[in-house]
Amino acid sequence: MDTVSLSGKELAAAMNADTRARAVALTENATAPHLALVVANDDPASAWYVNSLRKAADRLGIACDTIDLGPSADAATIRAELSARSEDPGIDGIMLQTPLPAGVTLEEVSSAIAATKDVDGVSPLSLGLLAAGRPGFAPATAAAVVELLDHHEIPLAGRRVVVVGRSNIVGKPLALLLLAKDATVTVGHSRSTDLAAITGSADVVVAAAGRIGLIGGDDIGEGAIVIDVGTNEAPDGAIVGDVDAESVRGRAAALSPVPGGVGPVTTALLMRQVVIAAEVRHSG
Ligand code: NAD
Repeated sequence: MDTVSLSGKELAAAMNADTRARAVALTENATAPHLALVVANDDPASAWYVNSLRKAADRLGIACDTIDLGPSADAATIRAELSARSEDPGIDGIMLQTPLPAGVTLEEVSSAIAATKDVDGVSPLSLGLLAAGRPGFAPATAAAVVELLDHHEIPLAGRRVVVVGRSNIVGKPLALLLLAKDATVTVGHSRSTDLAAITGSADVVVAAAGRIGLIGGDDIGEGAIVIDVGTNEAPDGAIVGDVDAESVRGRAAALSPVPGGVGPVTTALLMRQVVIAAEVRHSG
């Protein structure tokens, strides 16, 4: 079987063109969209990602401040910064970068982000709104998976979709978004027994565990659609996903590549959410 590559590049380019036009319109109206990136780590992968977000914002006409609180910031300091940015009338979107300092959980600090500015949907309130089917921002990575599937016209209604990973920012919100698309959703995780039998009977498998090679050809059914969310650093420094592409190719009907699949759509979606937050805030 020929395995189709589910690229995210063309979709991301189309989304970015739309976002840029909307950012220009906001700027002409003296309401230029403005993102605050809050960082509290000295992790090189995080620094690389922050830099790429800054460049993306710049290309799209979105102003971007980076607030670096350092790797030893405590929860109170991070919450105070997020509260201040939430109340700052010049800021439209807030993104809190991970990892956080040791001992600080995302849940305890992210609740200080106003839901209207929570463009990466990380706060417990945003997750609750998503669960209840109310308007709000979904985490960009989870939403990007659904956008990518839609873009490639992969039907979800009534189909068996298995998400591997249950984090609050990827697996869990993705399961909610897929349910809203009428998929029959199963969530696999590190304590699931016989995961291969679960993924093997799915029409669509989404790997979001952060484990290199977790999903191989033997773990999927013939003709399955496979989405690889994993972004892992291989021993040789290359960025690789959770899927063993070599063994999956030829057996899957389609596979999203890493890099070039979910990743560019995630960044495009995050930037679009900043522009939406600005449009909503300035429409009243
Ligand atoms: P996380 O570590 O918070 O959660 C990982 C989840 O995977 C957990 O729920 C755990 O139960 C599950 N898991 C771990 N090992 C497993 C195993 N052996 N079998 C089954 N389940 C297992 O990670 P996260 O923040 O949700 O990120 C997941 C992956 O997605 C990572 O590789 C991350 O880098 C990537 N990611 C990609 C993007 C993107 O834009 N492409 C964005 C965010 C995260």
